Amino acid sequence: MHFSAINPEELPPILSQLDQAINNHQQWYDAIVRTLICQLPANEHDLRKKAHRECLLGQWYYNSSPVKLRSHPGFVALGEEHKQMHEHAAHLLNLSRTGMAITTSDYDNFANSLQRVRLQILSLSRELEDLLRNADPLTGAANRIHMLPKLRAQQELVKRGAHRCCIAMMDLDHFKSVNDIHGHLAGDRVLAAVVHHVIDHLRTYDRIFRFGGEEFVICMLQTGLEEGQDLVERLRREIAGLAIHVGAAEPIHVTASFGLSELESSIPVEQSIDRADRAMYAAKSLGRNRVCVWDPSMK
Ligand code: GH3
Ligand code: MG
Ligand code: MG
Repeated sequence: MHFSAINPEELPPILSQLDQAINNHQQWYDAIVRTLICQLPANEHDLRKKAHRECLLGQWYYNSSPVKLRSHPGFVALGEEHKQMHEHAAHLLNLSRTGMAITTSDYDNFANSLQRVRLQILSLSRELEDLLRNADPLTGAANRIHMLPKLRAQQELVKRGAHRCCIAMMDLDHFKSVNDIHGHLAGDRVLAAVVHHVIDHLRTYDRIFRFGGEEFVICMLQTGLEEGQDLVERLRREIAGLAIHVGAAEPIHVTASFGLSELESSIPVEQSIDRADRAMYAAKSLGRNRVCVWDPSMK
């Protein structure tokens, strides 16, 4: 998954933009086929070097696509495929208007390229739909049922020495009193605001899962303990600095405690999670609003 940095409420509009992109692309394709088969004059835009930027799909891709989509490898690949597809289309249109034969390989190049563009858009859509389906509706974190498979897959990579992976357990401090003082609905909003902040500030490949109540597991890929500690320390500081507005009253401030462990290759994933949990409890007993790294004395 490359989309962890997108909050679920941002997903439906992105999905409809992708739907629109597919429709626009289909309309463009229909017009090209009509031009070629009926030997009509080509649309000047389709013959230009910048054709891929001028069609409706291109205008969306280069000018108004969501920023959060732009670093996704599938989105980058879509841009390449789409540009190539326009080059193949321009080639066909040029052959046709100069009365030259279109060979099967000219046509196949175009058709294959067209197919790849469709695939790229559809797989982006599918990935976003999965993200929407897997998200906890209140906070936008992924549901816990998706956590173990994800961590086990990462553990396989750790076993092969491909990378290191860190797990953080995050638990909000004195959250019961937030509910007691401000009411459960305000508590919900605070919880959502904190987790949205985390989602917005995680790196592209990191994931956050709702472990239960106001406890969350953050999985940091390609990350050793030291880097993980820096990252989580930054999140802790930022959360403590949030002024969360719920209704007209004074903003609410909360803090969170974090426990950190490394995803080990030699023990079950559940045990690595348990270590992060113990480290989080150590952070609680040391006064909360802090990050503790698991060590063997915590058992
Ligand atoms: P500590 O610092 O020790 O973690 O104290 P705490 O009060 O946060 O811990 P405790 O586990 O006693 O309470 C957690 C509270 O979080 C109790 C529960 O009502 C609240 N909570 C859990 N999930 C939600 C939720 O989805 N919405 C709201 N509003 N509250 C929740
Ligand atoms: Mg708590
Ligand atoms: Mg708790």
